[in-house]
Amino acid sequence: MKIRLAHLYGNLLNTYGDVGNIMALRYHLRKKGYEVETDLISLGDKFDNKKYDFVFFGGGQDYEQSIVEIDLFKKRDYLKEYIESDGLFLSICGGFQLLGDYYSTMDGKKIDGLKIFKHYTINPKGSKRFISNVKIESTDSKEIYYGFENHGGRTYLSKDQVPFGKVIEGNGNNGEDKTEGFVYKNTYGTYLHGPLLARNENLCDNFVKIIEKKLIK
Ligand code: GLN
Repeated sequence: MKIRLAHLYGNLLNTYGDVGNIMALRYHLRKKGYEVETDLISLGDKFDNKKYDFVFFGGGQDYEQSIVEIDLFKKRDYLKEYIESDGLFLSICGGFQLLGDYYSTMDGKKIDGLKIFKHYTINPKGSKRFISNVKIESTDSKEIYYGFENHGGRTYLSKDQVPFGKVIEGNGNNGEDKTEGFVYKNTYGTYLHGPLLARNENLCDNFVKIIEKKLIK
């Protein structure tokens, strides 16, 4: 059976080895006997939301985030439909920020997000970047996950958003409220580079199970 993975803007947003998430998932799926195909979906490409079993949207610098801003909007409805139909979606750092309302950079530029979720991100002038190892406890499974964060943006969730986890070490979304990332259906946003799925085999296993559950439906 063939599993299809999509790497959104993988040629622009791919900091701290984020592509390792695709590699880790592919490794585990192949070990279980699946054939795996990965597509890079970038500027001007159509996102066919019926085709994929996993979508990955990684992190990047402010400049690259501003390049994808306009193109993102054209993919919005297809991505929203994918998310609402329980598609497995992992977004990290810059990608996580861009699923939300907006990201306002330190020099005052506002980058519009997809506005599929209500979180917003600000990078206050003169503030320190959050560069640290992170340890969190997952909201859903109570498992512990480890990662590495490097972001200037501070993200604030809306009241109805559920955090991916609780910060045990590090800064997480904003360094204030102990929230880390968010989760909605099978969509995850997080600041944890690592690469996350390579460093946390338990989470990678959970993702494989989600994919398999959808296959037999
Ligand atoms: N440019 C964003 C920030 O600094 C995201 C960084 C990242 O993806 N690592 O907050």
